[in-house]
Amino acid sequence: MNTDNNRDAKWREELRSALSAKERTSIPRAVIPQLDPKFRVHSNHEVNQGLSQAQAVLEATRCLDCPDPQCIQGCPVSIAIPTFIKNIERGEILTAAKVLKQTSALPAVCGRVCPQEKQCESRCIYNKMKKQPVAIGYLERFAADFERENIKANNIELRPSAVEKNGMNIAVVGSGPAGLSFAGDMIKKGYNVTVYEALHEIGGVLKYGIPEFRLPNVVVEAEIDGLRAEGVNFVKDCVIGKTISYDQLHQLGYDGIFVASGAGLPRFMGIPGENFIGIMSANEYLTRINLMGAGRPGEDTPVLKGNRVAVIGGGNTAMDSVRTALRQGSKTAMIVYRRSLEEMPARVEEVHHAQEEGVEFMTLCNPIEYLADEKGRVRAMKVQRMELGEPDASGRRSPVPIEGAIEEIEVDLVIVSVGVSPNPLIPNAIPELEISRRGTIVVNEESMRSSIYDIYAGGDIVRGGATVILAMGDGRRAAAAMDKELMKQEK
Ligand SMILES: Cc1cc2nc3c(=O)[nH]c(=O)nc-3n(C[C@H](O)[C@H](O)[C@H](O)COP(=O)(O)OP(=O)(O)OC[C@H]3O[C@@H](n4cnc5c(N)ncnc54)[C@H](O)[C@@H]3O)c2cc1C
Repeated sequence: MNTDNNRDAKWREELRSALSAKERTSIPRAVIPQLDPKFRVHSNHEVNQGLSQAQAVLEATRCLDCPDPQCIQGCPVSIAIPTFIKNIERGEILTAAKVLKQTSALPAVCGRVCPQEKQCESRCIYNKMKKQPVAIGYLERFAADFERENIKANNIELRPSAVEKNGMNIAVVGSGPAGLSFAGDMIKKGYNVTVYEALHEIGGVLKYGIPEFRLPNVVVEAEIDGLRAEGVNFVKDCVIGKTISYDQLHQLGYDGIFVASGAGLPRFMGIPGENFIGIMSANEYLTRINLMGAGRPGEDTPVLKGNRVAVIGGGNTAMDSVRTALRQGSKTAMIVYRRSLEEMPARVEEVHHAQEEGVEFMTLCNPIEYLADEKGRVRAMKVQRMELGEPDASGRRSPVPIEGAIEEIEVDLVIVSVGVSPNPLIPNAIPELEISRRGTIVVNEESMRSSIYDIYAGGDIVRGGATVILAMGDGRRAAAAMDKELMKQEK
């Protein structure tokens, strides 16, 4: 161990002295190649094309390998960021990927969808120098993609974990990032792990929510294949609490249960006309298209198409919906958001991509009523113009209606994306489970253990709608704590 540390310290010192800080900071941040907006808006191809190896090595050279790297503090799972980046700089890309895998179960996913600008990159020392931060997300994606392509190109057979089995059985409810990262950790610790998924595809929001043009299914599938090869068992089309009850899970011999059932319950605004034909939740819209193939030739699932589509909300889900509407052939697609662009919770890059693709942004506007034609299909919406008032509990300035400033806008499809609530299935099926007023499962924040001794929980079912990396982090913490507890009981 000491020899490894010494060797690492030596090559890092050599890299440091190879170029001065001035030389490193004079390199401009890499620009990721992207598909032309005019082309991509008619296709489902991934927008960001990934850095070339030369670009990645140059970008890695910008990292100053700070003695007290703040980027790690900004990462919810504390990835050893400078270590993986410096491995890229010296051309050891597979080692870089290995470093990422030590703390992140899904680096190819996180490199694509994490809000780096609010996390690791926001802490990069370059910000203090008024320069653009090191492109940590692009580099993460590059290393993870390199590893995946290497496995494919060299027909490398993925093998089960070499750890001896301990004979204990673990059930995971839900196959989103929380469930997958938990499963990955527990299989490596020697448990038999079965993941139960209600839907017919594994991956949770990564499959049914985030569209192909942002996160291709092959990337998610490769991560799932890796877990399968390690021995994780997946059962699809199985709703825990309905198909199999909590008691039946015990009868099946499970020693621990991790609930990662997400926050898939869409919220609506409760305004007049919200039940008209042509108004649906973003969850329904995206699931029909991403998971059920609606809009693709040869697929039966129907989906309403609109010429004038309004998406209500300003988060990532809203951005995914509005860009999907354009790809489904809408003539205009607009975001209707009650605050201003600066307050939008969506990732900056997604807002930028949407703007490039021609999405209209109606900010400081809030729908207050929908109007329908004689067949009950939405034909217009009334919006209230807003202005920004004092900051609210979230620290963002709250929207305040401008008296009398109401407009009618023609629309024929409305996608409501104003937030989600925790999936109520498990809370309803296990009445003894402590649930918060928001409907989330209450857990100990350290161990992720619930009020029931053998049930742990994490991800959106605990946090409400959050992020991929936080869900993954929960899965990791729960795995460590459950393992510790089960090992204690074994003794
Ligand atoms: C459209 C969209 C875009 C997003 N974009 C981003 C982004 O860019 N960056 C980011 O960090 N985050 C993003 N998020 C948020 C992120 O995807 C979620 O925070 C994350 O997926 C939560 O992970 P999870 O594992 O807790 O739940 P989920 O991913 O929701 O997975 C839960 C799974 O559990 C299954 N399930 C539920 N109940 C049961 C049951 N009783 N039995 C069996 N299975 C069950 C569900 O079918 C689902 O597959 C986005 C979310 C959406 C909807």
